[in-house]
Amino acid sequence: MRSIYLDNAATTALSPAAKQAMLPYFDGIFGNPSSLHTWGQQASAALQDARERIALCLGADPKEITFTSGGSEADNQAIFSAAMAGAARGKQHIVSSAIEHHAVLYYLASLQTQGFDVTILPVEPGTGLVRPADVAAALREDTCLVTIMFANNEIGTIQPIAEIGALCRQRKIPFHTDAVQAVGHVPIDVRALRADYLSLAGHKFHGPKGVGALYCRKGMPLRSLLLGGAQERGHRAGTENLPAIMGMASALEESLALLGQTDAVMVPLRDRLIARLRDIPRARLNGHPTLRLPNNVNFCFEGVEGEALLLLLDAQGIAASSGSACTSGSLDPSHVLLALGLPHEIAHGSLRLTLSRYITEADIDYTAEAILQVVERLRAMSPVWERITADR
Ligand SMILES: *Cc1c(COP(=O)(O)O)cnc(C)c1O
Repeated sequence: MRSIYLDNAATTALSPAAKQAMLPYFDGIFGNPSSLHTWGQQASAALQDARERIALCLGADPKEITFTSGGSEADNQAIFSAAMAGAARGKQHIVSSAIEHHAVLYYLASLQTQGFDVTILPVEPGTGLVRPADVAAALREDTCLVTIMFANNEIGTIQPIAEIGALCRQRKIPFHTDAVQAVGHVPIDVRALRADYLSLAGHKFHGPKGVGALYCRKGMPLRSLLLGGAQERGHRAGTENLPAIMGMASALEESLALLGQTDAVMVPLRDRLIARLRDIPRARLNGHPTLRLPNNVNFCFEGVEGEALLLLLDAQGIAASSGSACTSGSLDPSHVLLALGLPHEIAHGSLRLTLSRYITEADIDYTAEAILQVVERLRAMSPVWERITADR
């Protein structure tokens, strides 16, 4: 049986080069970067090297990079920092969107219980675009943060981040973007984006899990979530995960070096899969047709349960994901699909397929064929589908 991993928005395989880059730091150069002896200094030099390389990939200064345990922590820390600085000046209003990752939305919900006022902007139906004009209209005298994701993890829609960044900068309002799905997948320049904070995670671009980074523009407030040591210039207590950081730096450089080549193959493969799935009756593409990540395909098939689809595809060696909140063990449709304006029953039938540079045309053709068959099979057993077709 084939094995085709199409769940790269959830996590990616570690690249062989990134794995090699990590190995010396498990036992050879294992020192604590904070130690003064040679072992420590070697580790500290490696840490600095990784910081410089990651900064270079983003157009940032090395001092603007803080290593974290991943995307969630980077998101939390950015919001926490801006919110606390805002509160100290009597500004407790935050603007965000309905389709953010839970690492943003749940943190904002916790701030609401602490007296913050949060405006959640709707997105354009179907495409999931945040309108810059809506952001501008939501800004107030007491706005202390705007946080809008770069690219959505479910539907792949890429937001007009440079436009939103520019209007925030003009009003001198701190701007954070969760770029966890974008870094390593599209070119990013923090200065051009006018981002004050930007989150990334190693495991979304073929680096290791459990490591990420927060870019924080020079002069913007940055507060530690973890108290204890003075690591990361006092911005994050705890001994650095050096092997993971080295792996992340290598994976990011590699992803960006291969970007042109990857896109030249992946975008046509993505579009080939989209074209095949569009042939299925009552199938709809979720997210923006063109302003979307090169690796993202997201469909709803009326009359089909996403979970059932996933399980049958898994049985054929294909790893995909559905829009249901599988992490919580519930079958509620995702907040992202609902925010697109999809009715509950349709949002239930969603399927997300996210490609990587390791996917081939043969993989895509096999997958498209498998989905066609599985959807047909499920619909043949579905009372919902019977009702839908009888209505016509
Ligand atoms: C994966 C992801 C996160 C969380 O990153 P972790 O490294 O798993 O903590 C946050 N935001 C987006 C958009 C993501 O895709």
